[in-house]
Amino acid sequence: MTEQRVTTDVVIIGAGPVGLFAVFELGLLGLKTHLVDILDKPGGQCAELYPEKPIYDIPALPVVTGGELVERLMEQAAPFEPQYHLGQMAEKLEKLDNGNWLLTTDEGMEVEARVIVVAAGGGSFVPKKPPIPGIDGYEGSSVFYAVRKMETFRGKHLVIAGGGDSALDWTLNLQPVAASVTLVHRRPDFRAAPDSVEKMRALAEAGKIKFQVAQIAGLEGEGGQLSGVKLKSPEQGEWVEPCDTLLPFYGLTMKLGPIADFGLNLNENLIAVDTEKFETSVPQIFAIGDINTYPGKLKLILSGFHEAALMAQQAFHYVYPDKKLRFQYTTSSSELQQRLKVA
Ligand SMILES: Cc1cc2nc3c(=O)[nH]c(=O)nc-3n(C[C@H](O)[C@H](O)[C@H](O)COP(=O)(O)OP(=O)(O)OC[C@H]3O[C@@H](n4cnc5c(N)ncnc54)[C@H](O)[C@@H]3O)c2cc1C
Repeated sequence: MTEQRVTTDVVIIGAGPVGLFAVFELGLLGLKTHLVDILDKPGGQCAELYPEKPIYDIPALPVVTGGELVERLMEQAAPFEPQYHLGQMAEKLEKLDNGNWLLTTDEGMEVEARVIVVAAGGGSFVPKKPPIPGIDGYEGSSVFYAVRKMETFRGKHLVIAGGGDSALDWTLNLQPVAASVTLVHRRPDFRAAPDSVEKMRALAEAGKIKFQVAQIAGLEGEGGQLSGVKLKSPEQGEWVEPCDTLLPFYGLTMKLGPIADFGLNLNENLIAVDTEKFETSVPQIFAIGDINTYPGKLKLILSGFHEAALMAQQAFHYVYPDKKLRFQYTTSSSELQQRLKVA
């Protein structure tokens, strides 16, 4: 558990393209931001679902891949020094007596802020669970769907399951740390980057890992502690692969998650907002990007950018109730240029 407490002006839930651009718009107005995302990298859907696909409808960028767009948004946000808290689920939101909000993550980190911006897109990315009987009883003790700290797996006997990039990357990264690694995939071919597949095959040939073409039929163990994974294949029949840890990587799916319990008005799992400030039914809490709904909403990145700009105006008034907000252009305002660190 991280267990740490920080205070800032605005906490943004979701580091997708819209959350990243919100850092920029809030930063221009002098507001500091922290971002929380369950993914281990910024970029939301662009980074997780289509990093290499070209996008053609970002203004002034005739073509940009999902991955490049995220890089550019991070570069644009960088002068405002956003603090990223990745690999953490924004779990609980409480109002404090001083008028601020306190957001707690599943890692026990607390962020206190005057304003909350929900930029949670289609919801949090959560792992797809394999339909293995009894797997729930081992979760968190012997079965893990993500690697948050490699050290957790030092000296362990691992079975890693899956055929995508996560399964292959963690096979390669954990091999030097673990006592043993067995990669299990139901087919001999992979969806992962060819380079990783080649490296994995070289490790298997050198006897440093095992690769089994098989399906997981069941788990063996007691009291949440695995002793082996039952595998089966048409060629080899059924057998038990001894291990103390199973890491299944069967992809991610999106779920609204804990945001459903934040007490905000929802409309078919989307957060209802006004179109002047993009504020929710609860003052000081805003929702921008794919997660919000209003008449005429288009789930496009450019809509989220516009929403971020308008949200920031109202967020400023919450953080600085006594200050006047002057409308300024980045081309001509030396104040904005100083904040951008270009003047
Ligand atoms: C294949 C594909 C192609 C697309 N092509 C285009 C296109 O050409 N043009 C276009 O404009 N749009 C396109 N889109 C849509 C575009 O990707 C979305 O509109 C955009 O990603 C929305 O951005 P966002 O920041 O609102 O949310 P997201 O990108 O969904 O990011 C939200 C982030 O919030 C995180 N999160 C949610 N809840 C929590 C929580 N409780 N705790 C921690 N983290 C949380 C999630 O993990 C996620 O990283 C495409 C989408 C897909 C899937």
